[in-house]
Amino acid sequence: GQCRNVCPTGAIIIKNENDRVWEVVNDRSKRVIAQVAPAVRVALGEEFGLEPGEVTIGKIVAALKAIGIDEVYDTAFAADMTVIEESKEFMERLSLGEDLPLFTSCCPGWVKFAENKFPDMMDHVSSCKSPQQMFGAVLKEYYKNEKNNAEGKETVVISVMPCTAKKAEAAREEFEQEGIRDVDFVITTQELALLIKEAGIIFHQLEEESFDMPFGLASGSGIIFGATGGVTEAVVTRLLKDKPDHSTKDILFKEVRGLENLKEAVFNVDGKEVKVAIVHGLKNTDELIKQIKAGERYYDFIEVMACPGGCVAGGGQPIPVNAEMRRERAKGLYKLDRTSHIKSSDKNPIVASLFEGILKDNHDLLHVHKKQGNI
Ligand code: SF4
Repeated sequence: GQCRNVCPTGAIIIKNENDRVWEVVNDRSKRVIAQVAPAVRVALGEEFGLEPGEVTIGKIVAALKAIGIDEVYDTAFAADMTVIEESKEFMERLSLGEDLPLFTSCCPGWVKFAENKFPDMMDHVSSCKSPQQMFGAVLKEYYKNEKNNAEGKETVVISVMPCTAKKAEAAREEFEQEGIRDVDFVITTQELALLIKEAGIIFHQLEEESFDMPFGLASGSGIIFGATGGVTEAVVTRLLKDKPDHSTKDILFKEVRGLENLKEAVFNVDGKEVKVAIVHGLKNTDELIKQIKAGERYYDFIEVMACPGGCVAGGGQPIPVNAEMRRERAKGLYKLDRTSHIKSSDKNPIVASLFEGILKDNHDLLHVHKKQGNI
């Protein structure tokens, strides 16, 4: 049926996939896996009378289990993989001095905008798939061999996203190999709230549950992906040999946090000065790129999020939203980073074991090889 989502990035017709959720959870031939993006956990509560920024991940996991999802994982886990791959790509380009700046690629609203408006800049957009797509590809690969054959089940990956553009991203042709999609379908935070209501679940009465293992373990860096500046902070943290503690991070990353239209900072990585910019909102992005092309500005690394404030204020999040709510939701994510056991993406032991295991000779799973798509 119709839903009330409004896409800020131009994909006007947005399909509500809740009927498909009910269909697959009732089909015993399917292993149904959900991944939940960071920003969902600091906003879903608003649909149930909680304050913006209040973290509800334990209840979200419990709700998804009650709905009939078999395994529930954290998209922040995949964000750790993105950080590692993107850092590597950045350092390679930096050492060659080629194709800089490197733009982030995790926001499909931005990627689509770049394809339409600045196709000549596409070589500068990271080849990394977004965390949603990396996760889907890895899950399908993992279960293809491990369990599917043994149990005769087909794996279905559902993403719970703050974002309407993620639906179009999941449907792009480059994210399907031999008829198997990385991500089968996407529901938004608003649609999850509807599902919970449709199921008759009393949200505030749910007992909290933790993510499943092995893919439920994420670093704090993976979690702050949901706020503007978070990807930059995660990448720089990964690149620094001496990992900063939280009070050092508050000082080091002061310039990359917050809601200014354009944020700039300089970091010293391996004795090299790295100039970064963080922009959010497509109008701000447009202005910035024009200035870069005119030679008025120079950066090595640029983080772009299409939604003002980043994914915490994505088009699939509860509405209305204002600057104060954006700040409160982001605060919820930074709080999770502070209390996380794992401080940097490269310290995530499960990610490390994947890089030694199924990803060892198969890094292709994590990269896009075709930039012109169909969204
Ligand atoms: Fe989606 Fe907006 Fe986040 Fe981009 S910034 S990934 S469009 S929610």
